Formats: sequence, structure tokens, C-alpha cells
Amino acid sequence: MNIAVIGLGGTGSAALRFLAAAGHKVTGYERFEIGHKRGSSHGNSRIIRYAYPDPLYTNLMTAAFPLWEELCDKAGRDLLVKCGGITFAPDGHPELDATIAALSSAGVAHTVMSSTDAMQRFPAFRFAADEMVVFHGDAGFLRSGEIVEAQVALARDAGAEIRAGVEVVDVRASETDVLVRTACGDFSFYDKVIVAGGAYLPMLFPELALPLTVTRQQITYVGLDESVKGVCSPERMPVWIDAATYWYGFPTDGRVDGVKVARHQMGVEVDPIADDRAVRGSDDDEAVRVAEKRIGGTTGRVVHSEVCLYTNTPNEDFIFDTAPGWGNILLVSGCSGHGFKFTVLLGKAASDWATSDEFCHGLADDRFRLHGHLQP
Ligand SMILES: Cc1cc2nc3c(=O)[nH]c(=O)nc-3n(C[C@H](O)[C@H](O)[C@H](O)COP(=O)(O)OP(=O)(O)OC[C@H]3O[C@@H](n4cnc5c(N)ncnc54)[C@H](O)[C@@H]3O)c2cc1C
Repeated sequence: MNIAVIGLGGTGSAALRFLAAAGHKVTGYERFEIGHKRGSSHGNSRIIRYAYPDPLYTNLMTAAFPLWEELCDKAGRDLLVKCGGITFAPDGHPELDATIAALSSAGVAHTVMSSTDAMQRFPAFRFAADEMVVFHGDAGFLRSGEIVEAQVALARDAGAEIRAGVEVVDVRASETDVLVRTACGDFSFYDKVIVAGGAYLPMLFPELALPLTVTRQQITYVGLDESVKGVCSPERMPVWIDAATYWYGFPTDGRVDGVKVARHQMGVEVDPIADDRAVRGSDDDEAVRVAEKRIGGTTGRVVHSEVCLYTNTPNEDFIFDTAPGWGNILLVSGCSGHGFKFTVLLGKAASDWATSDEFCHGLADDRFRLHGHLQP
């Protein structure tokens, strides 16, 4: 088959490599350079975890995890760092209870600890006396920016054509094929087209009025005293999520000095083209305060910060569906700030859809269909 993938972030680069590996003629379009910083997948790390309060996503992780391990094998790189993960909140907090229930019902091994026990086991952290901590070992972080580059390289090696720096401006389907037109003025026809455009997807299909909002999100790396660098390494410190405030963070990642801290809370809505991705001192200040509260031995110095985009659906469920009236165009988007860990699965499911017209790997759930998202 002759297939196009539009958008080579986490999702599109995964779809491209699966299709190329299966021997299809496949072309990947990316409006910027590969690994650029104007989308959602750049940077050094994204949390991967089973621990979701929502069993639908906990179950999807069962399918996604082996695909990440397979990617590490194929690329021969440590793209997944399994340092474990903790979620904590005051005892009895509904998010924490729901997380523990979802882990139990999915059969994922986990340990619930008091704050005192957790600080003994993970000396990097500071918890309040009334907080409870749930740890699970099958969690950690994905090297997101490196993953995009690795997947594109694997796809290229398997014969994919990569058109980086080429913006697609129009996608139109007939009963037999799909026309893809670029800003360079050329056009091509494909049997199937997968559109994984992230924040830029609504611009390609304005007539659909997709219920997507794009927000700017800042991440901050805070410096560490030499004395705590050991306990803040992935060997001794898991990724963490404060379920009561939605602040989260990482151990040192071996790429930037310091620990990364951010908040999973919708930021200011922006236009992905007009926004300059400028970092804000006030966001850094808040991150420094949280790092000081939660991690012993931070220096208060901002080592690095950058801006990334969330593309959000109103209920944070992804979109994975064919475009209305066009069964040969698949739209995949709305990862709502928690999607990187699923991009390999979304890419696999998209590539299987292209060859079978089926929604597989757990993506058949009605919650991913457009009709639900488009309802008022
Ligand atoms: C600060 C931050 C923290 C996050 N933390 C986590 C986390 O800890 N765990 C987690 O699982 N997820 C996390 N996420 C979410 C995750 O990173 C995203 O869900 C994921 O990267 C989305 O990937 P994507 O492929 O859909 O979009 P993108 O990576 O944005 O890829 C879309 C690509 O399509 C290209 N494109 C768009 N339109 C066109 C066009 N017309 N022609 C050609 N190319 C086009 C764009 O240039 C872009 O490269 C976080 C996101 C942010 C911003």
C-alpha cells in the first residue's frame, strides 16, 4: 500500500516506522525539522506509568509497554529508563485511592507506604506526615526527543521517504484515494493518510471544528547540591506525581544537570504559530518552590526551562478516528498532556488501521471516536 503520515512527532514517527518495517511504501511529512521544539514531543523526558485513576488508560499501558521495550531493542538505546514511579497525596485523597484501585484491578504490582517508610526507601523526597505514597516499579521515563529521532531513523532505514520542512496544506479524500497537497505546491495521491498533527491538526481541517485547545506548558530544571546527586539519580529516585496538586517530576536524566519539575494543569491557551515559546520567570519561581518543598538539597537555581504545547480535548480522552465522511483518513490527536507514553501504541494502531481498516490494540473504545468529542 501507499500511505502518508502527516506530522512526525511521537505518534507519527511511530506509525511511520511500523509501516516501513511492514514493507509499505510510506511517506512522512513534517512541517519543521525532525525533533523541532514547536510541538509536543521535544525535550528529554516524559513519564511512563501504569498508575492511572482511569482503568481504560491503565489497560492501554499493558499494550504500550512491550512496544517501548521492543523499540529500545531495535534502536539499541536506553530510550526507556525504568526508575519506578510514585504517586502521593494526603491519606484518603480520592485521586490516590482511584490510582491504587486501578493498579489493583489491572493486576499491576505496587506497594502502598506511609510517608516515613517512603522517605527511608527514597531519601531524595520530603513528604508530610499525613501523606501516603504508592510505588510501582514498572514506571519511569521515556527519552521523548531522542525517541522521535530514533523512530524516524528506523523508518528511513526501512525505506520510508521523509519530507521534513514540508508543510501539508490540504488533505482531500475520494472513494479511491487521498490527495495530499504541500505548501511547496506539489501534490501526491495515497491509499490511506494518517494525520498526527498535534497542535496544528485543527488548522488542516477547519471545517470539522475539532474540539481541541492548545495550551503552553513550561518545564523547569532545578539545580542540585553535589551531595544529593546520588540519591536523585534514576537508580535511587523514581518519577513522582503529587495527586493533590498535579505537580510532578523526574530524577536526574543524564542529559541536563538538575531535576525536572512541572505541573499537569492546563496552561494559557495559545496559537501554536503565533506563540513565541518564551519562558516565564514566574513559572520557574513556582517550580523552584515546589522542588524545594519536595526534594532535599535543591539549590534554588534554574538550570534550564522550556515551553511545550498540550493539545487538549475537553475530557482529556484522545481522538483516534476516521475523518467524518472520509474513511481513508485517520485523525490521531488530543493527547492532552498525558499522551507520550501511548504514542507508540497510537502509532501501532494507526499503522494497523491503514492496512486493515480495523481499530485495534484497545483503540476501538467509543471514548476515542469523534462523535463523542463533537457532542455539545
Ligand atoms: C510540558 C509537557 C509535559 C508532558 N509530559 C508528559 C508525560 O510526562 N507523560 C506523557 O505520557 N505525556 C506527556 N506529555 C504529552 C505528550 O508529550 C504529548 O501527548 C505527545 O508528545 C503528543 O505527540 P503528537 O505526536 O500527538 O504531537 P507532536 O509531537 O506535536 O507532533 C505533531 C507533529 O505534526 C507536525 N505537523 C502538524 N501539522 C502539520 C502539517 N500540516 N504538515 C506537516 N507536519 C505537520 C508538527 O510540526 C509536529 O511535529 C507532555 C507534554 C508537554 C507539552
